[in-house]
Amino acid sequence: MEGEVACVAGSIPIFGRSRAGQESYYRIPSFRSALEIGRCPDSLVSVPFVFITHAHLDHAAGVATYASQRTLHEMAPGRVFLPAEIRDSLANVVELHRQLEKVDAYQAVLTGVEPGDSIRIRGDLFVRAFRGCHRVPTVGFTFLESKRKLKAEFRNLASAELAALRRRGTEIAAVEETALLAYPGDSTAEIFEVAPEILRARVLLLECTFLRPEDEGRAPRYSHLHLNEIARRASDFQNEALILTHFSARYSREEILLRLQEDLPSSLRDRTIAFV
Ligand SMILES: [Zn+2]
Ligand SMILES: [Zn+2]
Repeated sequence: MEGEVACVAGSIPIFGRSRAGQESYYRIPSFRSALEIGRCPDSLVSVPFVFITHAHLDHAAGVATYASQRTLHEMAPGRVFLPAEIRDSLANVVELHRQLEKVDAYQAVLTGVEPGDSIRIRGDLFVRAFRGCHRVPTVGFTFLESKRKLKAEFRNLASAELAALRRRGTEIAAVEETALLAYPGDSTAEIFEVAPEILRARVLLLECTFLRPEDEGRAPRYSHLHLNEIARRASDFQNEALILTHFSARYSREEILLRLQEDLPSSLRDRTIAFV
């Protein structure tokens, strides 16, 4: 869609828009999902799974529009997942819009999630919620692939030997989970202690609201991340790709790229994508 940012990280194409305080959403067609809904642009209406981390309007304003548009276009109900603490409040907002529009039923189902909950998207792909670190109730989401794989101790055996083991009733395979993409939503640096597993996901989509050295004090005050807090932990990131996003609108694209170039050590910079 026009005006959307597009990137490919860890073989996952991601489209969307994100600026702090304005609008954030990420469309991930290969997962049939969106992270955040922003104001619900046309490109999100047909997405069947939407995961919202928290209720700030730049992330969540579009839920009623999504429900209304799916009804208008006679689509199947969309599934919207959001923190359990805010589920009823947001459902009330959507319900008021339904009454105002005099529509019998909206084609969207809102489901509250707690950290640890899993949502299956297709046979081998699911999303797990984890606790977020922001100044309103927040959950992060990780997309995981689960596949049955041969256990490590049996990988060197010939197929006849494996067949023999199987005949004897030995369990030769186990389910292995791979974290494909982790996203904590808006966050303070506390997230690296609360959910250190995000540092091992194939792709980490991470907010980086503040960049300039003089803005460092703003990050904890507004419950966001500053680039310095990421640079300081550069050696902790084991991700194949790090996408930095949700930059403050006070920075131009040129300044963002320059700051990343100058302030990130090359070991991390080479794997970093600026979503701008
Ligand atoms: Zn935000
Ligand atoms: Zn926020």
